[in-house]
Amino acid sequence: MSSLHLYNTLSRKLELFQPITQGHVGIYICGPTVYGPPHLGHLRGPIVFDVLRRYLIHNGYNVRFVRNITDVGHLVGDSDEGEDKLDKQAKVEKLEPMEVAQTYTNQYNAVMDKMNIIKPSIEPRATGHIIEQIEMIQVIMDAGLAYAVNGSVYFDVVAYNTNNNYGVLSGRVLEDLLHSQDAISSGPNWVPSQGRALESQDEKRNPSDFALWKKASPDHIMQWNSSWGKGFPGWHIECSAMSAKYLGAYFDIHGGGLDLLFPHHEAEIAQGTVAHKHTPAKYWIHHNMITIAGQKMAKSLGNGILAEQLFNGTHALLDQPYSPMTLRFFILQAHYRGTLDFSNTALLAAQKAWQRMQSAINLIDNLRVVDGSGSMEVDDIVLGIRESMNDDLNTPQVIAHLFELCRRINLVNDGKDQISLGVKTLVQQLRDDVCFGFLGLTLDDKSNSDGLNDAMQILLDLRKNAKKENNWVLGDQIRDALKEKGFEIKDTPEGTVWKL
Ligand SMILES: [Zn+2]
Repeated sequence: MSSLHLYNTLSRKLELFQPITQGHVGIYICGPTVYGPPHLGHLRGPIVFDVLRRYLIHNGYNVRFVRNITDVGHLVGDSDEGEDKLDKQAKVEKLEPMEVAQTYTNQYNAVMDKMNIIKPSIEPRATGHIIEQIEMIQVIMDAGLAYAVNGSVYFDVVAYNTNNNYGVLSGRVLEDLLHSQDAISSGPNWVPSQGRALESQDEKRNPSDFALWKKASPDHIMQWNSSWGKGFPGWHIECSAMSAKYLGAYFDIHGGGLDLLFPHHEAEIAQGTVAHKHTPAKYWIHHNMITIAGQKMAKSLGNGILAEQLFNGTHALLDQPYSPMTLRFFILQAHYRGTLDFSNTALLAAQKAWQRMQSAINLIDNLRVVDGSGSMEVDDIVLGIRESMNDDLNTPQVIAHLFELCRRINLVNDGKDQISLGVKTLVQQLRDDVCFGFLGLTLDDKSNSDGLNDAMQILLDLRKNAKKENNWVLGDQIRDALKEKGFEIKDTPEGTVWKL
């Protein structure tokens, strides 16, 4: 495909990407709910949309990339029941909710930096946009599509559905929703809480209605004044209010995980349609989820792996630490709309593949060129990569093309093929534009502990061989030189160990 095509969940079709305003693209991504440390499930979406953003920039677009921070309104049950996730964690940690939000926002962003994800152009917080949310709720009230009960405000899904289609995005049918548990909650961790669940359900005209504003109980830490009384906004309204504020009432791309399709994004479309008379975004892009041994990730299954555990290898499912770029490479090896099954074996394979690619990349600058034309060509690879990216960001195909490039680089390096200066320049461009460019990969940092371990092992092996050959002088020289630099070496029955 000669131009970018993206799969639009709203139309259920692969569509040619045409921005609303020529040369500019507005993207809104649903960001994290910052009540706990970042985990494996937090990695895929940001990488997928980082690649999309980088590819749009590569194609000459100006991109405004908005990723919010949810620091209020996201309830434990993922619907309108249960405690606010932030409020609950603040009580557990005996902190201000803002301290909880700041702590986990910092942790999340540190992981994003490690994964080489470009920072958002704007990172709005829900608590910083209460006024915008109240205003939008009022517009929906004025349109007669929301109602207040006992200090809470609900979106009237049935009334909305008479002139609109609630289900346009998710494909759900309201008739079914009114009779299913889904209407009450679709969250993976949802547990019906007796009494509490009925409270809110009793206030709703229909079970599929969702909260725009929730009355706060006196012990609820985060609450604001409104014309409906003291309370806090619902989860869905924050994204509608913040996307409209920073990208306008109609913007190009709204992204998120498939788990947000319903009710979150369906509700956003309904809210936006009432407030602005049309769907808020032109393209709705959803990435699939990461599974572990085919199962959804969940703390209750013991398979919730923290990002930090991936980097230091301390989780029971992991045999070793993995570099951020190995993880990025692993995620890019799957198409974003397919599921991605996570395992130590799969990560190990990704690590090997990524190391193979890095070895070839490291050869590029020193490839010897021949005068005139060499036999190595890359035009087919350049074309193949462009077509793969334009075909709904097919990164596994792009990686396959890059491996073909690596094979040819190795042939030249081994003296089995020849490369001209012109083609070598093209290869360098592919490295910078594709690998380090829109795929966003960077060479693994060899100064990290992995690299240090490797170097130390080489020295310890040398010393072992020296001692085996009774060359005690060399053995002691190595030990003393290391000691001078602060490395202590100890021979134990299990072998030689070292520490700094
Ligand atoms: Zn959202």
